[in-house]
Amino acid sequence: MRQSLVDHGLRLVAGGYVVGADGNLSVRDGEGLLITPSRVAYDRLQPGQVVRLDLAGAGDPSRSSEWAVHCAVYRSRPEVRAVIHAHPVFACVLAVRGEVLEALLDEVGPVLGGPVAVADYAPSGSAELAAAAVAGLGSRHAVILANHGTVTVGVDLEEAFYRLQVLERAAQVQVLR
Ligand SMILES: [Zn+2]
Repeated sequence: MRQSLVDHGLRLVAGGYVVGADGNLSVRDGEGLLITPSRVAYDRLQPGQVVRLDLAGAGDPSRSSEWAVHCAVYRSRPEVRAVIHAHPVFACVLAVRGEVLEALLDEVGPVLGGPVAVADYAPSGSAELAAAAVAGLGSRHAVILANHGTVTVGVDLEEAFYRLQVLERAAQVQVLR
């Protein structure tokens, strides 16, 4: 699972979904989670640097700055086993506009669970952002964080990443239509 987090971090950078060490990924691991560390560029990230936390966020201070979002999603959605937070450009346009991602393309419903809401604004890294993200996510598979980025969830990293790809393509279509 640690190697899969590294591999999907590299996919985030390669796909232009983040730059530098931005964004973060996690997978559920027993009663806790494994999450990428803070401020380590993905091309330098080693599997041993992946951090283990409990669902309250305790375990290692080098945890990602958005650990609270990941923990809150796992606590509220028992079926979710992977969470990806990214900063993709077109979804960020919607995030800045405060514009819901509409189901303009057929794939948005089946892949994302319906139109994707923009969560209420809260500062990066805050407990308020975790609560806003969970509320905005509801029972769907993605949420846009106002003035910030995206969160997608899945049964594994592959699914959460695919949902990120579909979200960003649909956002691009919506912005360019
Ligand atoms: Zn972020």
